Amino acid sequence: MEYEFIQKNINKVNENIDNALKRRKETSNNVQLIAVSKTKPWEMLQAAYDSGCRLFGENKVQEIMDKYDKLPNDIKWHMIGHLQTNKVKYIIDKVACIHSVDSVRLAEAISKEAIKKNIVIDVLIEINIADEESKFGIKPENAIEFIREISVLPGIHINGLMTVAPYVEDSEENRPYFVKMRELSVDISMENIDNVDMSELSMGMSGDYEVAIEEGATFVRVGTSIFGERNYSH
Ligand SMILES: *Cc1c(COP(=O)(O)O)cnc(C)c1O
Repeated sequence: MEYEFIQKNINKVNENIDNALKRRKETSNNVQLIAVSKTKPWEMLQAAYDSGCRLFGENKVQEIMDKYDKLPNDIKWHMIGHLQTNKVKYIIDKVACIHSVDSVRLAEAISKEAIKKNIVIDVLIEINIADEESKFGIKPENAIEFIREISVLPGIHINGLMTVAPYVEDSEENRPYFVKMRELSVDISMENIDNVDMSELSMGMSGDYEVAIEEGATFVRVGTSIFGERNYSH
């Protein structure tokens, strides 16, 4: 039982999720845990799977391709990282959702590959909610215009918003950004754009997922708190 800690970590995260949901003001208790398994060997993903995880998040096309064949086929893979247009074709029929749509070019590439495979893929629009220089994503003030523009593309279905909040010591510092995300999502749904749903809000990571849930997250993307620290040196 080399990876016994994974089961313990998942139990703890699920308990925290339940408690955060109880503190949430809205009645909806819809939140799904995405186990962010980037850099981790497939055996650790198998351990998480055996502990009940079915949603996995990866940020590299190559890693999704490598792990996809080794793991059970009822896993829902979520592409959460920056995606290059020329790599869309490798994962288009392997992932359940692409969280990181942040340009018209990328949306067009996804649309093109989805049409080839005769599928409609769920995508989320990545928002740079704190307007950070170093982050990918659409500026909140440009979101409606951007979504209008790509909503007409066949083969993709816009299903919500995603953000990577700033790295902070105290998760409370990110609460205003999570509130802003929820408000933006409501503003967008009120536009009633065809082919656009604001069902999902992908926000919250190991450091701040409880606050994100309190403010309305429907997907939380948790890596370190499940699998431990990542080692990028090898
Ligand atoms: C790595 C990553 C996460 C998980 O981060 P942790 O702090 O390890 O939980 C979540 N979202 C994205 C986009 C990531 O790249």
